[in-house]
Amino acid sequence: MKIGVPAEVKNHEYRVAATPAGVHELVRHGHEVSVQRGAGLGSHITDEEYLSVGAKLVESADEVWAESEMILKVKEPIEEEYHRLRADQILFTYLHLAASRPCTDALLAAGTTAVAYETVQAGHALPLLAPMSEVAGRLAPQVGAYNLMRFNGGRGVLPGGVPGVAPAKVVVIGGGVSGLNAAQIAVGMGADVTILDINIDRLRFIDAIYQGRLKTLVSTQYAVERAVLEADLVIGAVLIPGAKAPTLVSNELVSRMKPGSVLVDIAIDQGGCFEDSRPTTHDDPTFRVHDSVFYCVANMPGSVANTSTFALTNATLPYVVKLADKGWRDALRADEALALGLNTHAGVLTNEPVAVAHGLSY
Ligand code: NAD
Repeated sequence: MKIGVPAEVKNHEYRVAATPAGVHELVRHGHEVSVQRGAGLGSHITDEEYLSVGAKLVESADEVWAESEMILKVKEPIEEEYHRLRADQILFTYLHLAASRPCTDALLAAGTTAVAYETVQAGHALPLLAPMSEVAGRLAPQVGAYNLMRFNGGRGVLPGGVPGVAPAKVVVIGGGVSGLNAAQIAVGMGADVTILDINIDRLRFIDAIYQGRLKTLVSTQYAVERAVLEADLVIGAVLIPGAKAPTLVSNELVSRMKPGSVLVDIAIDQGGCFEDSRPTTHDDPTFRVHDSVFYCVANMPGSVANTSTFALTNATLPYVVKLADKGWRDALRADEALALGLNTHAGVLTNEPVAVAHGLSY
């Protein structure tokens, strides 16, 4: 199959949809891979690295799209890319169509066969979203620690403390993929970590792994309030699939928190789990609420594009290989998880939540 990897064009998107290891694998399977010149530079992957594993370097995005049977991307197409969409092509990327009617309409009008990373689902697991939750989770204590520094408006506490001085108290609300990764790094920093979840089986699992190196609590309003009032750093990492994140920390509660405390809301892409959360960007990531610092960047993995590119492509590559080797119809027939990824085909919407979001039939 002819596979194309264009450079990402969305603002501040530095990831790329295939690494040299991925291209090597696809070439080994007999496929042709065209990579747009410079596509990897945002993640510090050079054109020479792609060339050395058998990629063909192509000058423009138009050429990549024109000569490929399958396009691999990271983010959904934006308006300047819509004219390149066509019916005889597979598009494999993050789409988040429920949030974009223009992109949905563009894919339907073009007749594209679009498979969305975020709706590939194996049981309850979302294998192509998990790597980004891992990245955001592991980043959260790092940005939290940075914002706890005095000159950033924080409390001026060191997460690990020092001998004779207590460590910072870190409270992680939500013990799923991102929450557990956040807790892992916070424990590694030497902080005093408490993790809350409504799922007691999840807490059992976490408790068994950590053997007393962190505390687990069932998440109730009462438990959240008590933990938050003691915290130097609160990390919000909850998810109720398909729904807006629940509001677990009110403005009034923040008003009673320690001055200079920091709140990192990973769940901001689902509306956030703190009452005052609003999406921020890497250019201007924080704002103050009462005497606390809020960090609510909706695309945290973008700040560590190199790691994120490798994490994402490690997860996508097995599916890319299936799509390329078998063709999309047989690949989807053979893999239920991948089949759930199909969002549009031949002008028809094939994903129920997207259809419901836009009031369309599917
Ligand atoms: P997950 O499903 O793995 O974990 C969510 C956890 O929240 C579950 O264990 C669930 O039981 C728990 N939960 C639900 N309600 C709760 C409550 N009231 N109190 C305590 N726990 C509760 O989800 P995840 O992969 O960790 O993702 C979490 C959020 O982070 C999602 O909204 C995801 O989209 C988002 N995310 C954001 C970024 C970013 O850059 N900001 C990056 C990746 C993921």
